Amino acid sequence: MAITAADIGANLAEIRGRIEAAAERSGRDPASVQLIAVSKTHGIEMIEAAYEAGQRHFGENRVYEAEGKIAEARKVLPSDVVWHMVGHIQSRKSGDAAALFSWVHSLDRLKIARHLSKDAEALGLTLNGLIEVNVSGEESKYGFDLSRWPDGEPQKEAFFADVETMLALPDLRIQGLMTMAPYSENPEDARPVFRRLRELRDALCARFPAQEWPHLSMGMSGDFEVAVEEGATLVRVGTAIFGPREG
Ligand SMILES: *Cc1c(COP(=O)(O)O)cnc(C)c1O
Repeated sequence: MAITAADIGANLAEIRGRIEAAAERSGRDPASVQLIAVSKTHGIEMIEAAYEAGQRHFGENRVYEAEGKIAEARKVLPSDVVWHMVGHIQSRKSGDAAALFSWVHSLDRLKIARHLSKDAEALGLTLNGLIEVNVSGEESKYGFDLSRWPDGEPQKEAFFADVETMLALPDLRIQGLMTMAPYSENPEDARPVFRRLRELRDALCARFPAQEWPHLSMGMSGDFEVAVEEGATLVRVGTAIFGPREG
């Protein structure tokens, strides 16, 4: 059943309530969790409806699609909208991404981090970045591959070396980590993945104590409550707000 603009306020209220309950269950302050409405494939009128319902953080996963949409949003919506890039960025699109987004959740390789910092510098901006980690090792997923570490200290050291380089980039402010759990009908299947991301964050805090690691971007429509229980500060929800993807 297609969702209309009128349903979006109710969907957002329900999701916010579930986030709050999950935070309280796990002894967390609900205000420490930011809901990002992932609006990919949906048009500007859906984004406007969400804005009317108090939503300010929006996510897109393709630079090409976001270009027109964000330009339009900048015309019709106030400037307190915050755009998050959650999808893989091709190197040649990094300049466009830097101009469009204030957060990039998909630092999935050193090269893109370098490009984004340079592009941000040229624009006189600083970008917030999250290092994307492929916890489960699924072939289809982007990100630094954590699954190979148990028997691979050198890979772990290589990752830490890349992190150190990213932390030194002048116009990318590293804010934490991002992951996507493998698709499953059962949200509990995502729990070990989210827990490992949190443990990796703790390891990075120990390794790079001068750096703050405040954010964990994890949880989507099917598993955001589990993610909040495991420490998510940014949850990326699309379908549960806007309905099935269009087109
Ligand atoms: C599409 C997308 C989401 C939202 O997924 P839903 O299951 O629709 O909530 C979250 N994160 C990323 C990286 C996405 O591409």
